[in-house]
Amino acid sequence: MTTTTHTTPDLASIVGGTPRRGSTTSTSVNPANPAEVVTTISLADAEIAAAAMEAASAAFVGWQNTSAPARGEVLQRAAHLLDERADTIARDLTREEGKTLAEALRETHLAAKIFRYYAAQALDQDGETYPSQQSDQLLFTRREPVGVVSVITPWNFPISLPSWKVAAALAFGNSVVWKPAEIVPRTAVHVATALSDAGLPSGVLNLVIGRGSQIGDVLVTHPAVAAVTFTGSTPVGQAIQATAAGAGKKVQLELGGKNPSVVLAGADLEHAARQISIGAFGATGQKCTATSRVIVERSVAAELTDRVKEHAGQWVLGDPLDAATTIGPVASDDQLQTVLGYIDRARQDGARAVAGGSRAEGALVDGYFVQPTVFVDVEPSHAIAREEIFGPVAAVLPVDSYEEAIAEANNTPFGLTASLFTNDLSLALRFTREIRTGIVRVNQATSGIEYHVPFGGTKASGHGHRELGKAAREFFTEMKTVYISGL
Ligand code: NAP
Ligand code: MG
Repeated sequence: MTTTTHTTPDLASIVGGTPRRGSTTSTSVNPANPAEVVTTISLADAEIAAAAMEAASAAFVGWQNTSAPARGEVLQRAAHLLDERADTIARDLTREEGKTLAEALRETHLAAKIFRYYAAQALDQDGETYPSQQSDQLLFTRREPVGVVSVITPWNFPISLPSWKVAAALAFGNSVVWKPAEIVPRTAVHVATALSDAGLPSGVLNLVIGRGSQIGDVLVTHPAVAAVTFTGSTPVGQAIQATAAGAGKKVQLELGGKNPSVVLAGADLEHAARQISIGAFGATGQKCTATSRVIVERSVAAELTDRVKEHAGQWVLGDPLDAATTIGPVASDDQLQTVLGYIDRARQDGARAVAGGSRAEGALVDGYFVQPTVFVDVEPSHAIAREEIFGPVAAVLPVDSYEEAIAEANNTPFGLTASLFTNDLSLALRFTREIRTGIVRVNQATSGIEYHVPFGGTKASGHGHRELGKAAREFFTEMKTVYISGL
């Protein structure tokens, strides 16, 4: 994305229901064909971000006092509109992010389901009554919204992931300032438009499209902000955490991963290989829950590697709008350089690619396409085994026992998700206890979510909070304790 002097940008931030244009413009391109400009955006500056905070603050009390069924109805209508507009939204999502149209459609409908789920939760607020120590006193707790919430989201799931933050925030009566990743502005505008068309009052959701480096501080430290929910990379999240702590703000972080699939002797190797391939290469490997380490018992390592390699070769790279394509490009030139950098470094460290290992050639050479890649001869100390790559790259690490496997699985700073392939129930149960992650799966890919259960990571993958399901209310509400006596 480059800054230009384009005079009539297609998109702008939306503050208090009104488009707000800044003085710089940027251009987003199609990662499958970077010569194609998808859209031009007028970028928000710090002043626009502050105006968004003030608009959210002004709209907060009205929305808080809107009845829960009425809030739920707005979210229901937004869900309906997302479903109705899914074809258009998914095309835009694919053109700006690069995932396949099928993936984008699934993600758009998932966003609609999440809005419906939180529409129902608006009505499902719980509180407790307590016996008071005074006999004439009524004592109870109720949940209240926290206030103005800053929502900062990444580009990799540009509609479902913001939806699970925005829907939960709105359901519980908060107002929102949302900063999507700069490279997916059209998708963000679709979500904001669906909500305003559904009847969300102006100012309850404000969209600021701008650079984190320019408006991030306002989003985290503005006096109106009560809480910040962030999903993105670990370094950016930890910097936001430090700033938020200094400003005394509540903060939720969902960060990177280096997720292992552990395969034990005795597992169904074909099933494991297929799931590993889905986990590692689905959505072009650009998932916080992607499988990036394959930790396998040495006795079955060669056979498993052959099968994973075969599955890796079956993905069809191509124009993500084309129905035959099963894997799109990585999302940006930055991502391309990062992923190719890790591939080069893996080779320098002595690892060997048995599948992929380079940028796609031929007709795809101009797009940001990377072949599904599998490395062997990887040491646990190699960067490829320790750092998040966020691309279609998996590393195979052979081990000699379950004990070595679990030690290796836990041997990174991250702790988002992990999976185990085994036919041994005792080891499966032991793994679910011993793995230090927020999510663990048995005989399944590391990736994927169900939206009615908690989602989030431990160690450097998070900050102790969980999203989705009922867990969301712990972040988006606060408890108030009420004592009432008669006169
Ligand atoms: P990122 O670079 O950390 O950016 C995430 C968001 O933060 C973007 O909107 C970005 O805006 C913004 N940002 C950047 N600097 C900021 C600052 N100083 N203050 C406030 N906001 C700032 O992450 P990404 O590259 O978009 O996404 C990939 C990362 O997200 C991976 O690490 C992945 O693991 C993680 N992720 C985690 C989960 C999870 O739930 N655990 C889910 C999905 C993705 P710009 O557009 O300006 O960069
Ligand atoms: Mg980034």
